[in-house]
Amino acid sequence: MIVENMNQSKECPLIEINALCKSYLHANMIVVALKDISLVIECGDIYGIIGLSGAGKSTLIRCLSSLIDPSSGKILFHGNDIAHLKGEKLLNFRKSIGMIFQHFNLLNSRTVEDNVAYPLEIANITKKEQKKRVDELLKLVGLQEKKHAYSTFLSGGEKQRVGIARALANNPEVLLCDEATSALDPRTTKEILDLLNTINKKLGLTIILITHDMEVIKKICNKVAVIEGGKIVENGAVSDIFAHPQHLTTKRFIQGASHEIPTEFFKPLSPNRKLLRLRFKGKAASEPLISQIVKKYNVESNILLGWIDKLQTIVVGTLIIELTGSPDGIDSSLIYLANHSVQCEVLENGS
Ligand code: ADP
Repeated sequence: MIVENMNQSKECPLIEINALCKSYLHANMIVVALKDISLVIECGDIYGIIGLSGAGKSTLIRCLSSLIDPSSGKILFHGNDIAHLKGEKLLNFRKSIGMIFQHFNLLNSRTVEDNVAYPLEIANITKKEQKKRVDELLKLVGLQEKKHAYSTFLSGGEKQRVGIARALANNPEVLLCDEATSALDPRTTKEILDLLNTINKKLGLTIILITHDMEVIKKICNKVAVIEGGKIVENGAVSDIFAHPQHLTTKRFIQGASHEIPTEFFKPLSPNRKLLRLRFKGKAASEPLISQIVKKYNVESNILLGWIDKLQTIVVGTLIIELTGSPDGIDSSLIYLANHSVQCEVLENGS
């Protein structure tokens, strides 16, 4: 749904969050949940927001859906401050935001079709139109045969499909996903993420996805913000963040989503050795950089482990290597690799 009566400018991002802060008063104490959050979400993005429990993710999503008011800062939707929306404009804004939840929040006393029809009833859509729209939506999420089933008899994946169909009923522009796959097993998670991806491409729907799981980000997001203690510690394109994570928290999330490095690799190394993690993406992945440093700087390389992460738009390769040589040779090798866009991380120094 395009929000009517709002000033829309082609130059405006879909959503702009400016210096957003939110504090709660709890038992006479101020709890600061969000500190100076600024983010730009463009039309068509699948934007992941990742953080551990208590990081502020739900608070951010509640501010975005205007369920709570920020303490300071602004959220602009098509350039309009949502805090200033009133009456019909506020109603239209709320219709343009759909939401799905970890525990699906379906009405158990209703059938699948009646759950999906619920927002259409509230919007006073005629019965005939409701039926048509519900059929379209159930087809989109692949649940036509379960139309008359009660939600209590559905699997977790089916319940989330109903949640998605219901969230799309009023043709929103944005779908907010609050830990939408956290209650699902890995196979069902993949099916739901594939469905979200299809909907993003087919309908041009912008998706904002909150999670604590980097695997989810890796599978479908094009952009990511890492949030910790109510602050964004790092954000950008998923391919860049994966290839060059800067903040320790981001590195931990990425490591959690990657292969474990066997502890025996961290055995004491002789002084002329380093254990390294190298991340390659794009052009760097296709160049023989390791054999080049071996020749140029008279170092020896022993590849211990390697894997490939397939992201939405790019492949990132990781190698765990042991590099042996003179201190100068190793330092020059690291500079050479970094100059060729390889992210080098020293996991263990020789001593
Ligand atoms: P997340 O979704 O990342 O787990 P939340 O946004 O739920 O994080 O919480 C961020 C911080 O705000 C936490 O310290 C939490 O205890 C606090 N908080 C969240 N909601 C409330 C509330 N309604 N009242 C008081 N404190 C809250």
